[in-house]
Amino acid sequence: MKLLRPLSLLLACTLLSLGTLFADAPSLAPAPSLATATRAAVAPAQPTEELLNLSDAKAAVKAYVEDGRYDRDLAAAATKAREWIEERSAARRPGERLAVVMDIDETVLSNLPVMRAEDFGYNTREWAAWIKKSEAPALPAVKEVFLAARAADVAVLFLTGRKDPRDRPGTEENLRREGMGDYAALQLTPNDRKKITSLERKTAARAAWAAEGWTIIATIGDQESDLGEHAERGFKLPNPFYKIP
Ligand SMILES: [Mg+2]
Repeated sequence: MKLLRPLSLLLACTLLSLGTLFADAPSLAPAPSLATATRAAVAPAQPTEELLNLSDAKAAVKAYVEDGRYDRDLAAAATKAREWIEERSAARRPGERLAVVMDIDETVLSNLPVMRAEDFGYNTREWAAWIKKSEAPALPAVKEVFLAARAADVAVLFLTGRKDPRDRPGTEENLRREGMGDYAALQLTPNDRKKITSLERKTAARAAWAAEGWTIIATIGDQESDLGEHAERGFKLPNPFYKIP
């Protein structure tokens, strides 16, 4: 035992010295490959939520149109609007001047031809040229709402983001060609009112019409900004193509 104790002490000192000697030595773990090192250098600190792929989104929109869901959803909303207009106009109070406020683009007229040609992009010049041609086809289910309103002696007031005066001739001609020329007002967006949102402009226009004595029984459009105050009911149509604030 007397001999063992110094030996143990010597062994402990030797191990301690070796530990100190190798403390700064590089790890014996294998070095990362170049590929791993590159991934580590570009990887974000936190994983990012995967974004919707634009090609997939366009394909989904095209499928929605081509397999008939767009027409079905349009027809469902348009039917509700038509039924309300017929019901409300049948209960007209004496002296009431009933009106519906209708949007134009993706409401009574479809711009699918130009949207397809632009691969669902937006180019101001192309869009203006398209409007000037007056070739936008009617959306049949919504045209039926227009015709039902007129048959019930309800006025149609068009309220659109199309520009005044640039788009007025093309719009008037297009509505006439598609059998919707019998309207009481066509209000486009004056160029000097660009700085306010569609929601503000359209709400103000309905307020002005109400102040003139119109009873607005329905407002119909594809954007949230087409609906809202100064109308008894709002009917929202589908639009998977674009959004306007
Ligand atoms: Mg619209």
